[in-house]
Amino acid sequence: MTAPILISAGCVLAGDDLDPIVDGAVLIRDGVIDAVGTATGLGVPPGTARLSFPGMTILPGLVDCHDHLLGRSRFGEGLDGLTEPDGMWATVFAHYSRLTLAAGVTTVRVPGMHRGIDLVVRRAMREGFLAGPRMVCAGEAITMTGGHGLGAGIEADGPAECTRAARRQLAAGADFIKVMASGGVGTVRTGEDPTHPELTVEELAAVVGVANSARKYVAAHADGVEGIENALQAGVHCIEHGIYLTQLQAEFMANNGVKLVPTLSTMVNIAKKGAQWGLSAEWVRIADGILDVHRRSFEAALRAGVCYGTGTDGYGDMVDEITEFTTYGISAQRALRAATRDSAQIASPGAKFGALIPGWSADLLVVDGDPLTDLAALRSPVLVMLEGAVVKDTAAAHCG
Ligand SMILES: [Zn+2]
Repeated sequence: MTAPILISAGCVLAGDDLDPIVDGAVLIRDGVIDAVGTATGLGVPPGTARLSFPGMTILPGLVDCHDHLLGRSRFGEGLDGLTEPDGMWATVFAHYSRLTLAAGVTTVRVPGMHRGIDLVVRRAMREGFLAGPRMVCAGEAITMTGGHGLGAGIEADGPAECTRAARRQLAAGADFIKVMASGGVGTVRTGEDPTHPELTVEELAAVVGVANSARKYVAAHADGVEGIENALQAGVHCIEHGIYLTQLQAEFMANNGVKLVPTLSTMVNIAKKGAQWGLSAEWVRIADGILDVHRRSFEAALRAGVCYGTGTDGYGDMVDEITEFTTYGISAQRALRAATRDSAQIASPGAKFGALIPGWSADLLVVDGDPLTDLAALRSPVLVMLEGAVVKDTAAAHCG
């Protein structure tokens, strides 16, 4: 038992919808939010530690539903990293985990990692050897022979191999299964294209069957119409990217509770900054060619009422992604809900984190300014707390 902590600020974005509470405060006990309200209205037990941030904003920690935690390093690109030893992969992954947490992302869903190294590094974090965000891990992504993302995955062909590959991930400790239902923008071989379907309905359904039996879910990388269709028919929980998603498919998703992680800023950044970042000309060409259709697809998803979340996939960025949402007429408050509560529910259905609600995990940020009027305030959090522990604190003068 540690002493309760009261954090107060000029504004708290509270509850399911991040409704602003002016001169608000959050009371934390044993890693869990005990109460949220106005600073003067909360009953505070004796011995409570107090942190005060006048003029600043307290909000839930951000949730990134799609990040391989390899940054823009060569490990995240194509197959260049595959000749590197596992220790190098683990170290790079741990490095980006630490940076990601310091940037205010308190939960990351990792949708595929070379040799399941995500599961190993997460264990090191849980045992206290490393700092990092809460992780929801897939282990190796399942892809067809020569398929998309094979640098982060395991090749499997036919329902029997897919069943075995999925069971191996669960046996290794995966929280969900990632499958590749189509080619992608980040091609791994000449001729790969996002419009090409990859794993078949039968292969995808075999994986969904394994996940369902273990009460886990499947997230599908699915860019083209056929790949998305196969994934939806197989019964996946979530579509990643959904570049060519049609209105009918969006309506099916809304009606069946299938989620969408569009990774909009990833595609925009590859198209606009890829050349300067030294990415392959082929990736930049493909990304540039899909921006318009991706935009129309996300508009279709919004019209249909699909639940969507934030994903950055190495080349995007959480603030860019939230800002991108606002270009569709979504308010900053609603976009922040997508980046917190909704993404938490996509990553871990039923989870009690991602919103400042009594009884939920104390995962929160303090940022200087008001993100509802200026999202750039999210760029460098003053304080980051994960499960009630301060993991970043840049302000010395806040102790009241
Ligand atoms: Zn990815």
